[in-house]
Amino acid sequence: MVQSVAVIGAGLAGLRCALLLKEAGIDVQVFEREHHVGGRMKTEKVDGFLLDYGFHVMQTAYPTSQRVFDFEKLDVQAFEPGAIIVQKKNEKAKFWRMADPFRRPIQGALSGLNRFASPIDLLRVARLRFAVRKGKTEQVFEGGNKDTLSYLKQQGFSQSMIERFFHPLFSGIFLEDDLRTNERMFRFVFRMMSKGDMVLPRDGIAGAPNQLAQRLGKDRIHLNSDVSIVDDTTLDIKGQTKSFDAIVRAFNANQVNEKRHVWTLHFNAEQSPLNSQHVLLNGDVKMNDGLIAHLAVPSDIQPEYAPAGRSLVTITVVGGRADSLGLKTAPEIEAAVRKEAKLWFPDSSLNWQLLAVQHIEHALPEVGSSRPLLATPHRQDFECGDHMLHGSVEGALLSAEAVANAVLVHLRD
Ligand SMILES: Cc1cc2nc3c(=O)[nH]c(=O)nc-3n(C[C@H](O)[C@H](O)[C@H](O)COP(=O)(O)OP(=O)(O)OC[C@H]3O[C@@H](n4cnc5c(N)ncnc54)[C@H](O)[C@@H]3O)c2cc1C
Repeated sequence: MVQSVAVIGAGLAGLRCALLLKEAGIDVQVFEREHHVGGRMKTEKVDGFLLDYGFHVMQTAYPTSQRVFDFEKLDVQAFEPGAIIVQKKNEKAKFWRMADPFRRPIQGALSGLNRFASPIDLLRVARLRFAVRKGKTEQVFEGGNKDTLSYLKQQGFSQSMIERFFHPLFSGIFLEDDLRTNERMFRFVFRMMSKGDMVLPRDGIAGAPNQLAQRLGKDRIHLNSDVSIVDDTTLDIKGQTKSFDAIVRAFNANQVNEKRHVWTLHFNAEQSPLNSQHVLLNGDVKMNDGLIAHLAVPSDIQPEYAPAGRSLVTITVVGGRADSLGLKTAPEIEAAVRKEAKLWFPDSSLNWQLLAVQHIEHALPEVGSSRPLLATPHRQDFECGDHMLHGSVEGALLSAEAVANAVLVHLRD
């Protein structure tokens, strides 16, 4: 007889787990309380613009993503490696290009020499890159287990390099303002950035979970279904109980306790404020009232993100940074963002029309240095999701694969 499994949650983890179970011949049913699949990886269409839920990218070097996604069918396009860094000087903006600190550190070094990175910093970037790239991915999860800031200091980077480059980049990735994230996570992301591209799918970030949902088949996914678990094999679905051979929980029941939050502002602009396909990092984000971590123009990478003749400007403000400046509401954040952006783009930013301010609470799980971050997820019943490993596409997929295997072993016994 065909065995049946219920998966609760149609985020990336739930979809991946369900797909593996389906491929193993299990009758799998996915229950999702929202009206869409993808969980936190979602995209909304507003006035012809594709607005992702927060600035959200895929990394082509993530090993599990390489196996799971068909990047070609997603029609992904890449950001230029490296970054532009903006700094305020005498009330004027100065833009520096960090050409490619990951893949071409020496060239990157030359372009970064001007202000914030010393030649020694740039040699250290090259040394770090060499160290994290060698060996298997699992190796970056070995060794030290401190926070990222302590790790960068231990590596000998100058304060300027940390504050003006690492901080805006990695606080915008980890969605926290202290670089308190476990150094192992830093090494993992640094390795991935140095090995692959940061890309956007043509249909927005939701294209990724949608690809998995399509493979799974619509008939197995039940949207608008906020279910509860009665026991190990029984679900309560809108007041009706239903039995399965196993139940997988593909969501974080304690998500409300996750403190990392982010404000994302999307603007409709007449034209792109950038003249290259980089992400713009705010080198002043740790100074005085610096607020924006980074700015990107997704429509420069994927024209589908904006209607013809317009550009989409997406700005990331890390929640902890806004908190420390006492900014709590969308109008306060918008006003402060506009003030900072006006200094960078005095003419063009005045005409940016606000499309949305997204406040994403409980955005990522805490991955601090208080417990060792391992290369494989910890197991707890049949539970998967990024909170079981680390807050990333890779973390969600790996935990899903581990649980799917555990369920199959359980059903065989
Ligand atoms: C702003 C932001 C930016 C990010 N940027 C990146 C990035 O650039 N690169 C990267 O790798 N990662 C990024 N991430 C992380 C990545 O999005 C997540 O790690 C991943 O989407 C987590 O997937 P998940 O399936 O574990 O959880 P979720 O996406 O949270 O899915 C859980 C699902 O369970 C559903 N659910 C919960 N309770 C119930 C219930 N009782 N009944 C039915 N359904 C239920 C929820 O509605 C949800 O759909 C970002 C995250 C955010 C928020």
